[in-house]
Amino acid sequence: MEKEKTAGQQLAERLLLNRKNMGMSGDDASEQAAQDFCTPYMAFLDRCKTEREAVSEIIKLVQQKGYRPFDPNTHYQAGDQVYYNNRGKALILATIGTQPLSEGVRIMASHIDSPRLDLKPNPLYEEAELAMFKTHYYGGIKKYQWGAIPLALHGVIVKKNGETITVRIGENAGDPVFLVNDLLPHLADEQMKRPLAQGLKGEELNVLVGCRPFKDDKVSERVKLNVIRLLNEKYDIVEEDFLSAELCMVPAFCAQDIGFDRGMIGSYGHDDRVCSYTSLMAALEVEHPTKTLLTVFADKEETGSDGNTGLNSHYLEFFIEHLAKQEGLCGRDVLSHSTCLSADVNAAFDPTFGDTLEKRNCAYLNYGVVVTQYTGSRGKYGTSQASAEFMAQVRSFLDDAGVAWQTGELGKVDLGGGGTVAKYIAALDVDVVDVGVPVLSMHAPFEVVSKNDVYATYQAFKAYAQAN
Ligand code: MN
Ligand code: MN
Repeated sequence: MEKEKTAGQQLAERLLLNRKNMGMSGDDASEQAAQDFCTPYMAFLDRCKTEREAVSEIIKLVQQKGYRPFDPNTHYQAGDQVYYNNRGKALILATIGTQPLSEGVRIMASHIDSPRLDLKPNPLYEEAELAMFKTHYYGGIKKYQWGAIPLALHGVIVKKNGETITVRIGENAGDPVFLVNDLLPHLADEQMKRPLAQGLKGEELNVLVGCRPFKDDKVSERVKLNVIRLLNEKYDIVEEDFLSAELCMVPAFCAQDIGFDRGMIGSYGHDDRVCSYTSLMAALEVEHPTKTLLTVFADKEETGSDGNTGLNSHYLEFFIEHLAKQEGLCGRDVLSHSTCLSADVNAAFDPTFGDTLEKRNCAYLNYGVVVTQYTGSRGKYGTSQASAEFMAQVRSFLDDAGVAWQTGELGKVDLGGGGTVAKYIAALDVDVVDVGVPVLSMHAPFEVVSKNDVYATYQAFKAYAQAN
């Protein structure tokens, strides 16, 4: 027999916010659903370690579902599914809705780039009979984390004749891997006194790529020569071809279950492929949305969204203008009625570093998808902040769909901060809020998410995509 609740208990239940109870059931069936959802997600992570790889993989998946390349001169009907490939590094999917575009579109915008070590334009050198690559790191990394871990080489080399060579070494069984050397502790007295930000300095992120000389005493830099000889054999390139390449070093390890209970996933690049994958799965399932659904996979978020594949460029606006023109509208007529979930990760509470987050407002692992009303830093600089009106709509569609969700804030006030693509989409006169997965060890070579949160995020995108 359940005891009758006291007046105070009843009042508390009716009036107080219970963060732990916002839709999270935690039953066996939902955990199994999360498990089943995450198995292909982990395979996706292993196949997509760069924005180019993510674009190729997503196009492959959507083509199987009948998506066609976008043609601005075709008049599309409700239910038509198209994709727009921006230079092989960013992508927009669209499913045409039953409502006219004058009602606005719904946008889910994630990013498919992740922090890593890019090779410099002239990367290969030899010193002390070792061949090395010079790198210039990409995005916000803690440089010391990138020493002494196995790295894989990914990217493209484009030859002067336009031929593109795709490079991916270090991912298959039997492949060699590479690494940034770190100093042995025996000789690191001076290094250990450096501030952590300089544990490894930018110009110390040099990647070891060879040690065997080409056997000819008549030439110098024989180890470097031998490396170029091997690359020439494999790819038919010469050293000068590095000048037109986009090559990077990413962690060579695969996504793996974390913990005795296998409730979490460790991987490189959850930020932000976890939101890309969940929004993609939602988009693939919602075949007849009321409002036209755009799913955006952006590049360059980790370096501030600049460049023509980042969302601080106009390609999303231009795409919407093309759509609008078909209905005799201007892009801005559509944009000003549109909404967007800026799909990006947020920090999860880490008990080891508990004093960096404000416990009443931060996100927790396993509490579901995080809705972050604002980001920014030092007094909300650089944030787009979602309005109370839009937050009310978000609460409504999440609760109606029974999605486990929570609110989040990126760290304590004045401790640091960050941003997402939200402000660039808000600049188009769109209502935007950040929605995504809480992450532990964000931007580390091996980041952690909870499977339940990944599943809840997928459910949140689906609820948004199919809302009335
Ligand atoms: Mn991100
Ligand atoms: Mn990031």
